[in-house]
Amino acid sequence: MLGAIIGDIVGSRWEFNPTNDYNFELFSDKNNYTDDTICTIAVADAILNGSNDFGQYIHSWCRRYPHPMGGYGGRFAQWVMSDHPRPYGSYGNGAAMRVSPVAWALNSCKEMLHVAKMTAGCTHNHPEGIKGAQAVAFTIHNARILRAQYGKNLGEELLRDLLEYTLWKFPGYNFDVQTDAVQNRFDETCQGTVPVALWIVQNSTGFEDAVRRAVCLGADADTLGAIVGSIAEAIWGIPEWLKTKALTYLTDEMKCVVKEFHNRTKNNKPQSALIYGVEYSNPDLEDWQPEDVPSLTFTEQQYKTFVRGYIPDWECRFAPFQYKDWLYITRSGFWLKKFRFEKKDDGLYHLAEHFTTRKTMGNDLLKTVLIEGYYDPPLFCRQ
Ligand SMILES: [Mg+2]
Repeated sequence: MLGAIIGDIVGSRWEFNPTNDYNFELFSDKNNYTDDTICTIAVADAILNGSNDFGQYIHSWCRRYPHPMGGYGGRFAQWVMSDHPRPYGSYGNGAAMRVSPVAWALNSCKEMLHVAKMTAGCTHNHPEGIKGAQAVAFTIHNARILRAQYGKNLGEELLRDLLEYTLWKFPGYNFDVQTDAVQNRFDETCQGTVPVALWIVQNSTGFEDAVRRAVCLGADADTLGAIVGSIAEAIWGIPEWLKTKALTYLTDEMKCVVKEFHNRTKNNKPQSALIYGVEYSNPDLEDWQPEDVPSLTFTEQQYKTFVRGYIPDWECRFAPFQYKDWLYITRSGFWLKKFRFEKKDDGLYHLAEHFTTRKTMGNDLLKTVLIEGYYDPPLFCRQ
């Protein structure tokens, strides 16, 4: 969520005074938090208090800050001032800029998407408003999973996979974005902002780079900055100095929520893994049964080829895959085997440990994948 706040503060100066200079000043006394930060913190505050009444929390927080930098959008301002606020069918990008805490607090994808819908629905109950919130939360959720699997540097291919997974899940969004069509155009809609945010992230190489690209597009700088920042945080993490600097702009009660939210969510672990576009449960939660360890060895080259993984297709039903310190054999959303090799003095990698889930076929499966035809040329050599 701090990524959204940083994107908002950095972009605030340029919301109504757009810049196309990539090397603009990130922070100054002309920057401040805006509605994007207030609403994001309100969502986090509701979660911290175990409430799903996001409308009440957003309403209350916005009332406490009636005149933020940049003000509130027309319809939203009326909603804030109303004593009986009702959803008003909005598809504005406000649904997408405030949703990020949900993706950090909830580990189950299904539940997370449901709560993301609720954060939008109290005002932005148009299908495009809900879709925008869910698409951003879904991307953050999956970025967390990939970072747990691969660490900080996802690389271009995984980054593309991550974002294409969002496009697949939310038909209608695409990356066919022409710079001329979006540069210096103020588009406040979800459908006009979220695909642009995903496109910017796809072309970025780090957190600061992504936020700079978002803000200097000359569009809805603070909100696009907030959405891009929220996704970029999950992909690359945030440099410490940026966190420290951004917090100096917040009020004490805002800082309290940010810190408490961080403390409560920092040890959260996504309950799933993504392998070639298929969602798997967290393998650490599987009931793994130890198995006999047959005598199997790989040469250095064979081992390296194997740990790169193997994309499943109609010819190859099982996908060998590395996750953290273990090698796995997976199929269609199920973990089947996990094993670990040890490099010995003979320079070869020896199978050292071998576990199975109940859904597997015992040692036959290990032989099937490692020995009989899942590689050409065969990777396995028997001692
Ligand atoms: Mg704003």
